Amino acid sequence: MAPRVVVLSLASDFGCQVQITNMTDQILDVLGVIDLTYWQLATSGHLPAEYDVAIIEGAATTDEHVALLKKVRETAAAVVAIGSCANIGGVPAMAREGDLEERYATVYGGAAVAVGRIMPRPIDAVIDVDYRVPGCPIDPPEFLRVLSKVLQGLKDDTPDKTMCASCKLNETVCFFDQGQVCLGLVTRSGCAARCPSLGRPCTGCRGVAPDANLGSAREILVRYGQDPDELDRLLRIYNTSREVPV
Ligand code: SF4
Ligand code: SF4
Repeated sequence: MAPRVVVLSLASDFGCQVQITNMTDQILDVLGVIDLTYWQLATSGHLPAEYDVAIIEGAATTDEHVALLKKVRETAAAVVAIGSCANIGGVPAMAREGDLEERYATVYGGAAVAVGRIMPRPIDAVIDVDYRVPGCPIDPPEFLRVLSKVLQGLKDDTPDKTMCASCKLNETVCFFDQGQVCLGLVTRSGCAARCPSLGRPCTGCRGVAPDANLGSAREILVRYGQDPDELDRLLRIYNTSREVPV
């Protein structure tokens, strides 16, 4: 029997699911080896009671999300977190800064808003995650590679190292040598340093690498005449949740 796969979303803009729909060349091959029983973006039914693989996009921002994640963990043999929001909190976790209630009041005024809201957090702050596809949004080929590992029962091998070696391989001139700050110094590799190769500094969408040394990175900013606080300011774009205990 083909593995039963569900794709669901918590707090996000559905961008990673849109990336899956963009895989027009490969999606039919994928559908040939899985039983896609629920896809929140594309199906009108409800999440079934049983499935084998859960692919989850988005950050947890309500009690309802927490309950759903716990139920998913009880049901699925494999949980795959896709995108920055699910893996590191991402943009939704920017709401962790300052007063969350005040932010809601600013946006919604006196209107009714979601009940049971919690500080936004990545999925692994609630349940164990088996496989990761980092990035904002996900890279379709990387998603397919990870899905292939899931289907073959292979272990997750998300890179632990930071990105600068990819830049060296690409022969990209480092942004620090051009007087700019780049988060590739501390960001998880695996995107082939896409932004630097396109002429933009990395903004950290794949999250802080387990091998990253933030103290050394701040020292490097100082060495290049930059304000070391700039590193932390830039990390607030995607990585506000990085110190949430899991
Ligand atoms: S441009 Fe960024 S990723 Fe590339 S070497 Fe410099 S700091 Fe590292
Ligand atoms: S270079 Fe940085 S911001 Fe760009 S895709 Fe890679 S991790 Fe994300």
